[in-house]
Amino acid sequence: MFSGCGISLITSLLNNSYSMAFQDELTGLLGRRALNDRMKGLGRQYVIAMIDVDHFKKFNDTYGHDTGDDVLKMVSKKIGDVGGGGIAYRYGGEEFCVLFPGKIADDCIPFLELIRKRVENHKMIVKNVKHRPKSAETGHKRRGRRAGSCTEITVSVTISIGVAERNENLNRTDEVLKAADSALYIAKHDGRSCLRISEA
Ligand code: GH3
Ligand code: MG
Ligand code: MG
Repeated sequence: MFSGCGISLITSLLNNSYSMAFQDELTGLLGRRALNDRMKGLGRQYVIAMIDVDHFKKFNDTYGHDTGDDVLKMVSKKIGDVGGGGIAYRYGGEEFCVLFPGKIADDCIPFLELIRKRVENHKMIVKNVKHRPKSAETGHKRRGRRAGSCTEITVSVTISIGVAERNENLNRTDEVLKAADSALYIAKHDGRSCLRISEA
């Protein structure tokens, strides 16, 4: 019985240390290390999508860093629910990556477009701090010292997506990832809130 307890304790410790090393704390998605690990054994056919939240700095500046974190959690949830065999990762900051092992780009695009639309259609309720007065006293005066008189507004967030598949021109994982990143750059250049596919 004791050895059984010992084994389950070791298993749970190993699981915990795996989570700490491979999972992103804020979003619960897998992180960059897990992505690097998975990219080692991908074979000859796969697709990589790079996803970036549009104008996120402005969002942070307007509504605050905590609300920015809430946006990242919301976006992560939608990306994490991607279908079509996609695995979602937080690449860093407000950038995400979805890996589709064994797929070609045409198979993955409908699933990625679905994520993009789900994020766009999500109505986020945020505290309107846009015209927040500099001092609390001015704020009290303006609001007539009413308790909890904080206005809330509904905002939406958009994402841009760049997609690349492994082919004879893009042999290595770093080349496919770079091509997906270039396609993302084009999506940004084309006005954001859209998906672009690498032509390499
Ligand atoms: P673009 O549409 O071109 O992508 O513009 P952007 O503003 O989204 O891009 P930029 O790279 O200028 O800004 C990214 C911002 O993301 C800046 C950084 O403060 C913010 N950020 C990165 N990680 C986090 C995080 O974990 N939480 C919050 N709240 N903000 C973060
Ligand atoms: Mg961005
Ligand atoms: Mg970015």
